[in-house]
Parts: sequence; C-alpha cells; structure tokens
Amino acid sequence: MDSSIRIHPAVDGGIRAASPGFTGGTLVCACTDRPVKVRIEGQIAHNHACGCTKCWKPGGAYFSIVAVVPHDKVSVLENGDKLQVVDPSALIQRHACRECGVHMYGPVEREHAFQGLDFIHPERFQEAGWAPPGFAAFVSSIIEAGVDPSRMDGIRGRLRELGLEPYDCLSPALMDYVATWVAKKSGALSG
Ligand SMILES: [Zn+2]
Ligand SMILES: [Zn+2]
Repeated sequence: MDSSIRIHPAVDGGIRAASPGFTGGTLVCACTDRPVKVRIEGQIAHNHACGCTKCWKPGGAYFSIVAVVPHDKVSVLENGDKLQVVDPSALIQRHACRECGVHMYGPVEREHAFQGLDFIHPERFQEAGWAPPGFAAFVSSIIEAGVDPSRMDGIRGRLRELGLEPYDCLSPALMDYVATWVAKKSGALSG
C-alpha cells in the first residue's frame, strides 16, 4: 500500500483515539501575529475526512478533516475582526481568517438538516483528545482539485487502510439523516 499518499497530516501517521476526558478546547488559526482563537465546548461529532473543494485543507493534503458541533458551543475568543465569510451564498458560512486563510468555524443558518450545527477543523485545536475521523466523504471530488483519476484506486485503498471508509457523498448514516429531515418536512414521513 502506498503510504506516500498524503491524505491529511492528522491521519497519515495513523488515527489517534479520542480521549474520554476531552471536554472541548480552543481552535487557533495559523497566524503568528494576533491569531484568531475560537472556543469549542464539549466533544466534536461526525468527524471525517472530506475531499470537497470548499473545505479548508492544509498545504499538500488531499482531504480536509472536518467535524460538527452545536452552534451554541462555539464562541470567538480573540481577534474575531480578522474573520470573513468565504462564500455568503454557500450552505456552510465558512468563517476564515483573512490573513492565513484557515477556516475557523462554519455555521449552517439556512433551513436544512444541518441547521444549528457549525463545521470546524479539529486539527486546529491546541489540545489533543478530540474524536478522530470515522469515514471519508466526497472522495471523488478530489479529482476536481486536480488529482489524476488513475490514482483514485490507490487513494481509496489508503483511506480503507486507515479505517476511513470512502464515500463519494456523505456516509450512509448522514445521507439517511438528511433524507429523513427532508421526508419529515414534506410529510412523506410523519413525526
Ligand atoms: Zn490567521
Ligand atoms: Zn468538504
């Protein structure tokens, strides 16, 4: 298996287990001067590797590492004046540092199954112990970022080796969650 494939620095050396004592932490951007700091209360959920072209990725990585937390567990501690929304028309309102480009948090405010959740990049935590990624989403989308399609078998193989089952959209559990929300809204499902 090709371990030279760089999925993401947080997983390339193997996946680190969550610490049961993790109660939250502080996300810090990459600026050395006046870094943006964002406090997250509690453990993260649905952490995964994402191959879409909109998530922030560290240099050289094919995937982002991205998770969700409830919006009321997110608070900007320092230098929030450096934040700006990357694409105001997007479902996820990704708040990025204007100077270093790191996405700090991305709330979903629109009516959607993910409304009330913020997307964050746990690798920016100062602290260890956050829940590790459990699958890989939007894997085929890395081709849109310029990865040669002939490399996809190797990349999917590497993801499986790391325990990150590759999906070309979200995981079945999350796709079902979204579809259930839509069905309840339309009345196709009751309750
Ligand atoms: Zn920054
Ligand atoms: Zn993404």
